[in-house]
Amino acid sequence: MVRYAIITGAASGIGLATSRKLASLGYGVIMGDISDVVKEKAKSIKEETNNERVIGLHVDVTDWNSCKEFYNEVLSILGIDHVDVLVNNAGIIRDSLFIKMTPEQWDQVIKVHLYGAFNMTKQVVDGMIKNQWGRIINMSSASWKGNIGQANYSAAKAGLIGFTLTLSRELGKYNITVNAIVPGFIDTPMTASVPDKIKKLIMDRIPMGRMGRPEEVANTIAFLASEEASYINGAIIEVTGGLVL
Ligand code: NAP
Repeated sequence: MVRYAIITGAASGIGLATSRKLASLGYGVIMGDISDVVKEKAKSIKEETNNERVIGLHVDVTDWNSCKEFYNEVLSILGIDHVDVLVNNAGIIRDSLFIKMTPEQWDQVIKVHLYGAFNMTKQVVDGMIKNQWGRIINMSSASWKGNIGQANYSAAKAGLIGFTLTLSRELGKYNITVNAIVPGFIDTPMTASVPDKIKKLIMDRIPMGRMGRPEEVANTIAFLASEEASYINGAIIEVTGGLVL
């Protein structure tokens, strides 16, 4: 039996690495991203992994209608009536000290992470309940406990922890597990823009003395998506090399 997984923010970084990992394990993989580059990335992964069931589609997770259209397209292209795994991974940063933070910076970050997780989870949840099997994996961040310059991002990522814990309580009885991943400082395009001075400060707080690789987060996601993780529900799993912010 083939399991199908939707990964949002799949054109880059952790989402891309997760798509590659799940495709290599034989999942049907639906890569969603606001960037149309996702279609090319899906094509490459399809060829690399020799997996016919990899597609890339445009989606803006902040927009309810876009998520609805995306999900309907997924079901119709693949000829399925539900997906088994959802990885709410799409993300952005708009860092600024709170005293300088604009309403736009606040809105954008809250929308991508919190509205994004709501909009996508609502699409898939009925199908998972009907099938009595599901895995929902939400991408939080070590910043959820607070990080200077990230009031918007910390609030969104802490919100995702509350969302995860509540859904784990509501959906467990349908054999749907809901867990959060807390990555630390991972080498992706998102962190490439962090100024060197700040990078050094963060590196000094990582006992392992290096950034994480997107594949190291992807491996953890793949485990949570698997049959083997059947009794892990409502967990907050750190992939940080021991980082304390
Ligand atoms: P990334 O390389 O920037 O990838 C994020 C992807 O999400 C990008 O392709 C981005 O497209 C896409 N995206 C942004 N807004 C979207 C929207 N409205 N709808 C659909 N897709 C959208 O970032 P990453 O480092 O892999 O991060 C992945 C997740 O891990 C994020 O939730 C992030 O907050 C979290 N995280 C990352 C780190 C880290 O150190 N890298 C640490 C903790 C948590 P554009 O590039 O066009 O915006």
